[in-house]
Amino acid sequence: LLMAYEPAKRLARLQVSLERAVVNARMIYEILDLKPRQADRPDAKALAVTDATITFKDVRFGYSDNETILKGLNFTAEGGKTTALVGPSGAGKSTVISLIPRFYDPAEGEILIDGQDIAHVTKQSLRNAIAYVSQQPYLFEGTIRDNIRYGRPEATDAEIEEAARHAYAHDFILAQPLGYETPVGENGVTLSGGQRQRLSIARALVRNAPILLLDEATSALDTESEQAVQKALDEAMSGRTVVVIAHRLSTVVRADKIIVMQDGAVAEEGSHATLASRENGLYARLNSLQAPVANTDKNAE
Ligand code: ATP
Repeated sequence: LLMAYEPAKRLARLQVSLERAVVNARMIYEILDLKPRQADRPDAKALAVTDATITFKDVRFGYSDNETILKGLNFTAEGGKTTALVGPSGAGKSTVISLIPRFYDPAEGEILIDGQDIAHVTKQSLRNAIAYVSQQPYLFEGTIRDNIRYGRPEATDAEIEEAARHAYAHDFILAQPLGYETPVGENGVTLSGGQRQRLSIARALVRNAPILLLDEATSALDTESEQAVQKALDEAMSGRTVVVIAHRLSTVVRADKIIVMQDGAVAEEGSHATLASRENGLYARLNSLQAPVANTDKNAE
């Protein structure tokens, strides 16, 4: 109990004013349990998840009043399937991801989960349904166990270990000087990029959430780490609704649906085979330029 209490206490301290700052820094918004700052609507209900299908309907959004980043975005991420967002830098892919846990709200339009407008559900229930894995996983000051537990403060040790096993992290954790009690973060042991990613995946897995938002790493790992991270991600993605900002060709090719974004709208959507064969299509052109979908894919293919 005490062990569960400590991280919860730290979380509460962290929460103060961090919610937006961390989104901007793209660092720790995998900590979706930060208590939402804005109050829920008085009539807000708990989100009732069935398939975890996510629908964007005519979504317009800008970070300030005089700019529009998303200009009427429409797409559906089917429940239990993987939807890959691709498109040029600045197209708005990260912005789409940040609207799903409601770090920001659309200026117009709706985002629905299983038919419920997420603006009308409690933020807590919304965020409980979502796990997030960022490009650059953030490790807090604390032990490896604490760092996984941030995904769900009430998780038991057994659940933490199970998440670590599914994230292919258990063995390297046991090889650390103090196993799960090994300190990480600024004053702790240094972990490799691949190990940090697997801890971040374990943190997401311990949430056991039906929706996984994934910002795929662009930095290349060595082949062995790459394979371990890929296996961990395959575990995490299985059976969930996944929306991934895809940087690796293998992810895009395997996605159930690809959404090609350009200038804040959906330029094309479909499977890899359909889009790649479309003459003069944006995806076909991006694909033949090997960018942006394959530009970091040295190890994966
Ligand atoms: P990339 O592949 O380079 O990450 P992206 O497709 O994910 O690009 P976004 O990061 O969503 O695109 O950015 C879309 C636009 O919104 C850009 O012009 C960007 O500068 C701006 N932007 C992104 N995040 C913020 C923020 N927190 N505050 C203000 N502007 C932002």
